Amino acid sequence: MKKKTLGLLAVSLCLSWGFSMSAVAQDPAKIWLRQGPNKLLDSDAIMAKMDMARDLAGYDYYLSTLQRLQCQDIDETYTIVQTPGVNMGAWKEVPAEPTQVFDNVYYVGGMEVGGWIIDTGEGLIMLDSSYEYGATTILEPNIAALGLNPADIKYILVTHAGPDHFGAVMHFVDNYGTKVVFNRQLAGGPANPPWLQVVPEDMVIMGDGDKLTLGNTTITAVHTPRSYNADGITPGDGLSYFIPVKINGKRHLWATYGNTGLVGTVADKVLYRESMAKWLKYVDALKPDIAISSHPFVDASLDRMEIIRECNDRRGQHKGWNKQECSRNPFVIGRKAARRYFEIMDQCAVVQTMRQEAGINSTGLEELP
Ligand SMILES: [Zn+2]
Repeated sequence: MKKKTLGLLAVSLCLSWGFSMSAVAQDPAKIWLRQGPNKLLDSDAIMAKMDMARDLAGYDYYLSTLQRLQCQDIDETYTIVQTPGVNMGAWKEVPAEPTQVFDNVYYVGGMEVGGWIIDTGEGLIMLDSSYEYGATTILEPNIAALGLNPADIKYILVTHAGPDHFGAVMHFVDNYGTKVVFNRQLAGGPANPPWLQVVPEDMVIMGDGDKLTLGNTTITAVHTPRSYNADGITPGDGLSYFIPVKINGKRHLWATYGNTGLVGTVADKVLYRESMAKWLKYVDALKPDIAISSHPFVDASLDRMEIIRECNDRRGQHKGWNKQECSRNPFVIGRKAARRYFEIMDQCAVVQTMRQEAGINSTGLEELP
Protein backbone atom coordinates (compact mmCIF):
# COMPACT_ATOMS: atom_id res chain seq x y z
CA MET A 1 0.00 0.00 0.00
CA LYS A 2 2.75 2.35 0.99
CA LYS A 3 4.62 1.75 -2.27
CA LYS A 4 1.58 2.74 -4.28
CA THR A 5 1.00 5.86 -2.23
CA LEU A 6 4.62 6.80 -2.70
CA GLY A 7 4.36 6.39 -6.46
CA LEU A 8 1.25 8.49 -6.65
CA LEU A 9 2.88 11.09 -4.47
CA ALA A 10 5.94 11.24 -6.69
CA VAL A 11 3.75 11.63 -9.75
CA SER A 12 1.54 14.28 -8.17
CA LEU A 13 4.62 16.09 -6.89
CA CYS A 14 5.97 16.23 -10.40
CA LEU A 15 2.64 17.36 -11.76
CA SER A 16 2.40 20.04 -9.13
CA TRP A 17 5.72 21.41 -10.28
CA GLY A 18 4.03 21.82 -13.62
CA PHE A 19 7.12 20.79 -15.50
CA SER A 20 7.43 18.33 -18.30
CA MET A 21 8.73 14.99 -17.11
CA SER A 22 11.05 14.45 -20.05
CA ALA A 23 13.99 14.25 -17.64
CA VAL A 24 12.43 11.19 -16.05
CA ALA A 25 11.99 9.58 -19.44
CA GLN A 26 15.69 10.25 -20.08
CA ASP A 27 16.86 9.08 -16.68
CA PRO A 28 18.99 6.01 -17.41
CA ALA A 29 17.98 4.33 -14.16
CA LYS A 30 14.41 4.43 -15.40
CA ILE A 31 15.19 3.30 -18.91
CA TRP A 32 16.79 0.04 -17.94
CA LEU A 33 14.35 -1.23 -15.42
CA ARG A 34 14.14 -4.95 -15.04
CA GLN A 35 10.78 -6.08 -16.27
CA GLY A 36 8.95 -9.26 -15.50
CA PRO A 37 6.68 -11.04 -13.10
CA ASN A 38 8.68 -10.60 -9.93
CA LYS A 39 8.56 -13.12 -7.14
CA LEU A 40 10.84 -11.99 -4.39
CA LEU A 41 12.68 -14.63 -2.36
CA ASP A 42 13.20 -12.30 0.61
CA SER A 43 12.49 -13.70 4.07
CA ASP A 44 10.33 -11.81 6.55
CA ALA A 45 13.53 -10.64 8.28
CA ILE A 46 14.91 -9.20 5.03
CA MET A 47 11.57 -7.57 4.22
CA ALA A 48 11.59 -5.95 7.67
CA LYS A 49 15.02 -4.43 6.94
CA MET A 50 13.75 -3.26 3.54
CA ASP A 51 10.80 -1.61 5.26
CA MET A 52 13.23 0.24 7.52
CA ALA A 53 15.05 1.57 4.45
CA ARG A 54 11.70 2.67 2.95
CA ASP A 55 10.79 4.40 6.20
CA LEU A 56 14.06 6.33 6.14
CA ALA A 57 13.18 7.57 2.65
CA GLY A 58 9.61 8.36 3.68
CA TYR A 59 7.64 10.16 1.00
CA ASP A 60 10.62 12.12 -0.30
CA TYR A 61 10.96 11.65 -4.06
CA TYR A 62 14.75 12.06 -4.10
CA LEU A 63 15.44 9.88 -1.06
CA SER A 64 13.07 7.22 -2.44
CA THR A 65 14.95 7.24 -5.74
CA LEU A 66 18.15 6.57 -3.79
CA GLN A 67 16.55 3.91 -1.61
CA ARG A 68 15.03 1.96 -4.49
CA LEU A 69 18.29 1.90 -6.41
CA GLN A 70 20.55 1.09 -3.45
CA CYS A 71 18.25 -1.63 -2.10
CA GLN A 72 17.22 -2.78 -5.62
CA ASP A 73 13.68 -2.33 -4.35
CA ILE A 74 10.54 -2.30 -6.46
CA ASP A 75 9.10 0.97 -7.72
CA GLU A 76 5.43 1.95 -8.01
CA THR A 77 5.05 -0.29 -11.07
CA TYR A 78 6.48 -3.25 -9.13
CA THR A 79 9.62 -3.19 -11.22
CA ILE A 80 13.02 -3.61 -9.63
CA VAL A 81 15.25 -0.55 -9.92
CA GLN A 82 18.82 -1.33 -10.91
CA THR A 83 21.96 0.50 -11.94
CA PRO A 84 21.58 1.73 -15.52
CA GLY A 85 23.35 -0.24 -18.15
CA VAL A 86 23.49 -3.55 -16.30
CA ASN A 87 21.23 -5.23 -18.80
CA MET A 88 22.59 -3.37 -21.80
CA GLY A 89 25.24 -4.59 -24.21
CA ALA A 90 27.40 -2.05 -26.04
CA TRP A 91 26.01 0.91 -24.15
CA LYS A 92 27.81 4.25 -24.32
CA GLU A 93 27.43 7.21 -22.03
CA VAL A 94 25.90 10.36 -23.60
CA PRO A 95 26.06 14.00 -22.46
CA ALA A 96 23.45 15.46 -20.13
CA GLU A 97 22.36 19.06 -20.55
CA PRO A 98 25.06 21.17 -18.83
CA THR A 99 23.57 23.06 -15.90
CA GLN A 100 24.68 25.60 -13.32
CA VAL A 101 23.36 24.01 -10.12
CA PHE A 102 24.73 26.48 -7.51
CA ASP A 103 26.44 29.89 -7.67
CA ASN A 104 29.81 28.13 -7.95
CA VAL A 105 28.91 24.59 -9.12
CA TYR A 106 28.15 23.27 -12.61
CA TYR A 107 27.19 19.85 -13.94
CA VAL A 108 29.18 19.05 -17.08
CA GLY A 109 28.87 15.27 -17.13
CA GLY A 110 26.74 12.66 -18.84
CA MET A 111 23.42 10.96 -18.17
CA GLU A 112 25.25 8.36 -16.10
CA VAL A 113 28.25 10.01 -14.40
CA GLY A 114 29.72 13.46 -13.58
CA GLY A 115 31.83 15.84 -14.18
CA TRP A 116 30.84 18.41 -11.61
CA ILE A 117 32.78 21.69 -11.69
CA ILE A 118 33.44 23.83 -8.61
CA ASP A 119 34.56 27.41 -9.30
CA THR A 120 36.88 28.51 -6.47
CA GLY A 121 37.50 32.04 -7.76
CA GLU A 122 41.12 31.07 -8.45
CA GLY A 123 40.63 28.11 -10.73
CA LEU A 124 38.25 25.20 -11.15
CA ILE A 125 38.04 21.84 -9.41
CA MET A 126 36.26 18.95 -11.15
CA LEU A 127 34.61 16.10 -9.22
CA ASP A 128 35.07 12.86 -11.19
CA SER A 129 35.93 12.71 -14.84
CA SER A 130 33.64 10.38 -16.81
CA TYR A 131 34.92 7.65 -19.13
CA GLU A 132 38.12 8.03 -21.16
CA TYR A 133 36.12 8.89 -24.31
CA GLY A 134 34.05 11.36 -22.28
CA ALA A 135 36.85 13.95 -22.10
CA THR A 136 36.17 15.22 -25.62
CA THR A 137 32.64 13.89 -26.23
CA ILE A 138 30.98 14.92 -22.94
CA LEU A 139 33.08 17.03 -20.57
CA GLU A 140 34.80 19.56 -22.84
CA PRO A 141 31.70 20.37 -24.92
CA ASN A 142 29.62 20.82 -21.75
CA ILE A 143 32.35 22.90 -20.07
CA ALA A 144 32.53 25.15 -23.14
CA ALA A 145 28.72 25.43 -23.34
CA LEU A 146 28.73 26.97 -19.85
CA GLY A 147 31.44 29.47 -20.79
CA LEU A 148 34.10 27.76 -18.68
CA ASN A 149 37.64 26.88 -19.75
CA PRO A 150 38.98 23.33 -19.24
CA ALA A 151 42.49 24.79 -18.92
CA ASP A 152 41.35 26.37 -15.63
CA ILE A 153 40.77 22.94 -14.01
CA LYS A 154 43.52 22.71 -11.38
CA TYR A 155 42.38 19.51 -9.67
CA ILE A 156 40.18 16.51 -10.41
CA LEU A 157 38.75 14.92 -7.26
CA VAL A 158 38.32 11.24 -7.99
CA THR A 159 35.83 9.22 -5.96
CA HIS A 160 37.13 5.81 -6.98
CA ALA A 161 39.28 4.02 -9.48
CA GLY A 162 36.49 2.88 -11.80
CA PRO A 163 36.73 3.71 -15.51
CA ASP A 164 33.56 5.82 -15.24
CA HIS A 165 35.20 8.13 -12.65
CA PHE A 166 38.89 7.98 -13.50
CA GLY A 167 38.67 7.47 -17.25
CA ALA A 168 39.26 10.99 -18.56
CA VAL A 169 41.85 12.19 -16.05
CA MET A 170 44.89 11.71 -18.32
CA HIS A 171 43.36 14.01 -20.94
CA PHE A 172 43.28 16.85 -18.40
CA VAL A 173 46.68 15.97 -16.89
CA ASP A 174 48.34 15.87 -20.32
CA ASN A 175 46.64 18.92 -21.84
CA TYR A 176 46.17 21.30 -18.91
CA GLY A 177 48.54 20.16 -16.14
CA THR A 178 45.59 19.22 -13.93
CA LYS A 179 46.46 17.41 -10.68
CA VAL A 180 44.53 14.27 -9.66
CA VAL A 181 43.30 13.83 -6.08
CA PHE A 182 42.98 10.26 -4.84
CA ASN A 183 43.58 8.18 -1.73
CA ARG A 184 46.61 6.37 -3.08
CA GLN A 185 49.09 6.43 -5.90
CA LEU A 186 47.85 4.65 -9.00
CA ALA A 187 50.78 5.22 -11.33
CA GLY A 188 50.93 1.88 -12.92
CA GLY A 189 52.91 -0.66 -14.69
CA PRO A 190 51.97 -1.73 -18.20
CA ALA A 191 49.21 -3.91 -16.79
CA ASN A 192 47.25 -0.83 -15.80
CA PRO A 193 44.88 0.72 -18.34
CA PRO A 194 45.98 4.04 -19.93
CA TRP A 195 43.67 6.04 -17.69
CA LEU A 196 45.56 4.80 -14.64
CA GLN A 197 48.98 6.04 -15.72
CA VAL A 198 49.09 9.15 -13.53
CA VAL A 199 52.65 9.68 -12.26
CA PRO A 200 53.25 10.64 -8.60
CA GLU A 201 54.04 14.32 -9.32
CA ASP A 202 50.60 14.72 -10.93
CA MET A 203 48.76 13.29 -7.93
CA VAL A 204 47.64 14.66 -4.57
CA ILE A 205 47.14 11.87 -2.03
CA MET A 206 44.45 12.55 0.56
CA GLY A 207 43.08 10.57 3.52
CA ASP A 208 40.65 10.90 6.41
CA GLY A 209 40.00 14.54 7.27
CA ASP A 210 42.60 15.89 4.85
CA LYS A 211 41.79 19.25 3.28
CA LEU A 212 42.45 20.72 -0.14
CA THR A 213 42.23 24.50 -0.55
CA LEU A 214 42.02 26.41 -3.82
CA GLY A 215 40.82 30.02 -3.97
CA ASN A 216 37.84 30.47 -1.66
CA THR A 217 37.10 26.73 -1.34
CA THR A 218 38.42 24.18 1.18
CA ILE A 219 37.33 20.59 0.51
CA THR A 220 37.53 17.82 3.13
CA ALA A 221 38.16 14.21 2.10
CA VAL A 222 37.36 10.90 3.82
CA HIS A 223 38.66 7.48 2.73
CA THR A 224 35.55 5.31 2.19
CA PRO A 225 36.48 1.95 0.67
CA ARG A 226 33.63 -0.41 -0.24
CA SER A 227 35.66 -3.56 -0.88
CA TYR A 228 39.00 -5.15 -0.15
CA ASN A 229 41.90 -5.18 -2.58
CA ALA A 230 42.80 -8.42 -4.35
CA ASP A 231 44.88 -9.48 -1.32
CA GLY A 232 41.63 -9.68 0.67
CA ILE A 233 43.25 -7.78 3.56
CA THR A 234 43.89 -4.14 2.66
CA PRO A 235 40.84 -1.89 2.21
CA GLY A 236 40.37 -0.68 -1.36
CA ASP A 237 40.03 2.68 -3.04
CA GLY A 238 37.63 5.51 -2.58
CA LEU A 239 37.40 9.09 -1.40
CA SER A 240 34.26 10.93 -0.38
CA TYR A 241 34.17 14.71 -0.07
CA PHE A 242 32.59 17.65 1.72
CA ILE A 243 32.46 20.62 -0.64
CA PRO A 244 31.38 24.13 0.47
CA VAL A 245 29.07 25.77 -2.07
CA LYS A 246 27.12 29.01 -2.38
CA ILE A 247 23.49 29.54 -3.37
CA ASN A 248 22.39 33.16 -3.81
CA GLY A 249 25.52 34.09 -1.89
CA LYS A 250 24.63 31.90 1.09
CA ARG A 251 26.96 29.15 2.26
CA HIS A 252 25.87 25.50 2.11
CA LEU A 253 27.78 22.23 2.42
CA TRP A 254 27.57 19.47 -0.18
CA ALA A 255 28.44 15.91 0.85
CA THR A 256 29.23 13.44 -1.91
CA TYR A 257 29.92 9.76 -1.25
CA GLY A 258 32.44 8.05 -3.48
CA ASN A 259 31.62 4.38 -3.45
CA THR A 260 27.85 4.20 -3.65
CA GLY A 261 27.29 0.84 -5.29
CA LEU A 262 27.39 -2.38 -3.27
CA VAL A 263 29.82 -4.99 -4.59
CA GLY A 264 31.68 -8.13 -3.66
CA THR A 265 31.44 -10.50 -0.73
CA VAL A 266 29.74 -10.25 2.65
CA ALA A 267 33.12 -9.14 4.08
CA ASP A 268 33.20 -6.31 1.50
CA LYS A 269 29.76 -5.20 2.62
CA VAL A 270 30.91 -5.20 6.25
CA LEU A 271 33.74 -2.88 5.14
CA TYR A 272 31.20 -0.74 3.24
CA ARG A 273 29.24 -0.30 6.47
CA GLU A 274 32.42 0.52 8.42
CA SER A 275 33.24 3.22 5.87
CA MET A 276 29.70 4.56 6.13
CA ALA A 277 29.88 4.62 9.96
CA LYS A 278 33.11 6.65 9.73
CA TRP A 279 31.57 8.96 7.13
CA LEU A 280 28.49 9.54 9.31
CA LYS A 281 30.77 10.80 12.10
CA TYR A 282 32.10 13.42 9.67
CA VAL A 283 28.52 14.16 8.60
CA ASP A 284 27.54 14.79 12.23
CA ALA A 285 30.55 17.06 12.74
CA LEU A 286 30.34 19.06 9.50
CA LYS A 287 26.53 19.06 9.06
CA PRO A 288 26.06 19.09 5.27
CA ASP A 289 22.62 20.19 4.02
CA ILE A 290 23.12 18.87 0.47
CA ALA A 291 23.84 15.26 -0.54
CA ILE A 292 24.49 14.53 -4.21
CA SER A 293 26.07 11.53 -5.87
CA SER A 294 28.55 11.89 -8.69
CA HIS A 295 26.15 9.60 -10.61
CA PRO A 296 23.04 11.70 -11.36
CA PHE A 297 20.73 8.66 -11.63
CA VAL A 298 21.37 7.73 -7.98
CA ASP A 299 19.32 10.57 -6.49
CA ALA A 300 17.31 12.05 -9.36
CA SER A 301 19.80 14.84 -9.98
CA LEU A 302 18.77 15.02 -13.63
CA ASP A 303 15.21 15.86 -12.53
CA ARG A 304 16.51 18.51 -10.16
CA MET A 305 18.67 20.07 -12.83
CA GLU A 306 15.66 20.23 -15.11
CA ILE A 307 13.74 22.08 -12.39
CA ILE A 308 16.59 24.58 -12.04
CA ARG A 309 16.75 25.17 -15.79
CA GLU A 310 12.97 25.48 -16.01
CA CYS A 311 12.88 28.02 -13.17
CA ASN A 312 15.70 30.04 -14.70
CA ASP A 313 13.89 29.99 -18.02
CA ARG A 314 10.63 31.11 -16.44
CA ARG A 315 12.39 33.90 -14.60
CA GLY A 316 13.95 35.06 -17.81
CA GLN A 317 11.21 34.56 -20.34
CA HIS A 318 7.81 33.96 -18.80
CA LYS A 319 5.68 36.17 -16.60
CA GLY A 320 3.79 33.35 -14.89
CA TRP A 321 6.52 31.25 -13.28
CA ASN A 322 5.67 30.00 -9.84
CA LYS A 323 7.79 31.97 -7.44
CA GLN A 324 7.27 29.57 -4.56
CA GLU A 325 8.24 26.48 -6.56
CA CYS A 326 11.38 28.16 -7.78
CA SER A 327 12.29 29.95 -4.55
CA ARG A 328 14.49 27.18 -3.24
CA ASN A 329 17.15 25.12 -4.90
CA PRO A 330 15.89 21.49 -5.19
CA PHE A 331 19.32 20.15 -4.19
CA VAL A 332 19.11 21.73 -0.72
CA ILE A 333 17.40 19.06 1.39
CA GLY A 334 18.51 20.16 4.85
CA ARG A 335 20.76 18.58 7.46
CA LYS A 336 18.34 15.90 8.68
CA ALA A 337 17.52 14.63 5.18
CA ALA A 338 21.18 14.80 4.17
CA ARG A 339 22.03 12.52 7.10
CA ARG A 340 19.11 10.19 6.21
CA TYR A 341 20.50 9.95 2.66
CA PHE A 342 23.56 8.16 4.05
CA GLU A 343 21.55 6.15 6.58
CA ILE A 344 19.54 4.81 3.62
CA MET A 345 22.75 3.73 1.91
CA ASP A 346 23.77 1.95 5.11
CA GLN A 347 20.37 0.31 5.57
CA CYS A 348 20.41 -0.94 1.98
CA ALA A 349 23.83 -2.46 2.71
CA VAL A 350 22.10 -4.35 5.54
CA VAL A 351 19.43 -5.61 3.11
CA GLN A 352 22.00 -6.65 0.50
CA THR A 353 24.22 -8.37 3.09
CA MET A 354 21.24 -10.40 4.31
CA ARG A 355 20.25 -11.35 0.77
CA GLN A 356 23.79 -12.52 0.08
CA GLU A 357 23.95 -14.49 3.34
CA ALA A 358 20.61 -16.09 2.47
CA GLY A 359 21.98 -17.17 -0.92
CA ILE A 360 19.85 -14.88 -3.06
CA ASN A 361 21.04 -12.31 -5.55
CA SER A 362 20.95 -8.51 -5.18
CA THR A 363 17.53 -8.17 -6.82
CA GLY A 364 16.01 -10.70 -4.43
CA LEU A 365 14.64 -12.61 -7.43
CA GLU A 366 17.10 -15.44 -7.96
CA GLU A 367 19.07 -17.90 -5.93
CA LEU A 368 22.82 -17.44 -6.15
CA PRO A 369 24.58 -20.20 -8.11
ZN1 LIG B 1 30.58 4.73 -10.75
